[in-house]
Amino acid sequence: MANKKTAVVTGAAGFLGSHLTDRLLAEGYKVIGIDNLLTGNVRNIEHLAGNSDFQFIKHDVTNYIYLPGEVHLVFNFASPASPIDYLKLPIQTLKVGSLGTHNTLGLAKAKGATYLIASTSETYGDPLEHPQKESYWGNVNPIGPRGVYDEAKRFAEAMVMGYHRAHHMDTKIVRIFNTYGPRMRLEDGRVVPAFIGQALQGKPITVFGDGSQTRSFCYVSDLIDGIYKLSQSNYHEPVNIGNPREMTVLQFAKEIQKIIGSDQPIIHQELPMDDPKVRQPDISLARKLLGWEPKVDFEEGIVKTIDYFREFLAIKS
Ligand code: UDP
Repeated sequence: MANKKTAVVTGAAGFLGSHLTDRLLAEGYKVIGIDNLLTGNVRNIEHLAGNSDFQFIKHDVTNYIYLPGEVHLVFNFASPASPIDYLKLPIQTLKVGSLGTHNTLGLAKAKGATYLIASTSETYGDPLEHPQKESYWGNVNPIGPRGVYDEAKRFAEAMVMGYHRAHHMDTKIVRIFNTYGPRMRLEDGRVVPAFIGQALQGKPITVFGDGSQTRSFCYVSDLIDGIYKLSQSNYHEPVNIGNPREMTVLQFAKEIQKIIGSDQPIIHQELPMDDPKVRQPDISLARKLLGWEPKVDFEEGIVKTIDYFREFLAIKS
């Protein structure tokens, strides 16, 4: 087809960026994927090699982005996104959230493109309101170890709204809650790959603190569906996308052990500083605005994710 629209996806070799790229290609877009492969991996996009609608550029978006030709949509998904990654990469996390957002906004402005940024439930910090609505301003420690990510994303949201107001750009902000599924990195330290990896390898499960902190896990295809719908909408303020089904980390550990059939103990380790005690999205806005809600239930999504890691570990060994 001659008249395909072009989308740019930064962070295209990452977990979410690669799934978003697949969805955009399926929707009939040409996709230019940009990634510096700091936490992303080409393995996540190797199935696209030879696809004439996909182009990959290895580039760090904290530097100026030069792209010839038309661009209709820019999706900014570049950033370290797991707590241990952004603790290891504090400066890169701050730079990609600030300079990377500036450069991608500049690109979208120059091309007259619609812009969507991946923001995060971390903008709510350790929330004092539960569940979290978009109207909540959050409870973030700016100088704590998570501050490099939380504040970079809060700054990014501010910058996107600034460009929207000053330049009348068509911008969207998605606040992404905990998401899981195939292509997560086994070693990224997040609770889903950590527990599944431990259970599959016959190791004890490491619960941080007493495990009473809660999270609400969304399967990746649901999340991408919400993001795609938001990109087609006419709404410019932040929208939560996530699955409201909430559980404690300890319940989650037991669930993983049961499904995998692990008889190893659960061991408790120190709770990281500023670890949010609760997290659950209020998705009434997304329901109303986009007619979206998650469809994949936890049991189904987690089995698909376990299958992915089982295969990954078999290839590795
Ligand atoms: N967690 C845990 N054991 C692990 C990894 C994480 O108990 O091996 C906990 C972590 O302290 C947090 C929750 O699981 O309360 C989710 O952590 P994750 O790193 O996935 O991301 P977060 O939701 O904190 O951004």
